[in-house]
Amino acid sequence: MIKITRLPKPGVLDRHQKAWTRALLAAGSDADKRRWEKKYRHREIKDVLVSMFRGKCAYCESKISHIEYGHIEHFRPKSRFLELTFEWSNLLLSCPICNGSEYKGDRFPEEHEGGPLINPCVDTPDEHLEFVFDPIAKLATVIGKTPRGTITEVLLGLNRNDLRAYRSKHISRLFVLASYAETDPVAKELLVEACKADSEYAAFARVIADELGL
Ligand SMILES: [Zn+2]
Repeated sequence: MIKITRLPKPGVLDRHQKAWTRALLAAGSDADKRRWEKKYRHREIKDVLVSMFRGKCAYCESKISHIEYGHIEHFRPKSRFLELTFEWSNLLLSCPICNGSEYKGDRFPEEHEGGPLINPCVDTPDEHLEFVFDPIAKLATVIGKTPRGTITEVLLGLNRNDLRAYRSKHISRLFVLASYAETDPVAKELLVEACKADSEYAAFARVIADELGL
């Protein structure tokens, strides 16, 4: 997870957020509620989120937009915070697994429960999470540095098996590349590229680059 600067609110929310929220909160039937609720999926909102998160999941940093549409994620779940359904600061882009019922789903721990979760647009993820590559085990693991970091790692499944295996392969290659970066400008350029916000698992790449003083 890396820090992301939130882009300005899409115009469609500027124009309709208040009216949509009012209609949703006043909806008398489930059908009526569904009719209003789905407005958050507006193309313009999705486009800004994809651009803001560079087509990556806000939480696990996996690229999603090349293989599926990605979910508009309500940081505070709309099932519990209906009034935030169209609140721009509550919307993120996430992969279907981080956002799925096995992981975050409708969960949102409050302060007294060890939360809230780390929000990449509000918090500085590095202060709560450590991105550790073990070159012997060849594993790239997210470790909580604070109680909020730990609950975020566990609840979002940031070390779930398939994700960690895929991420570890990628970071293993970067680790090898890093050993050439001081003498080979192409290796250095590739490593710098891997640290950019649009690259998968940039949080790990940045730790490797930092250690080299890049
Ligand atoms: Zn994810």
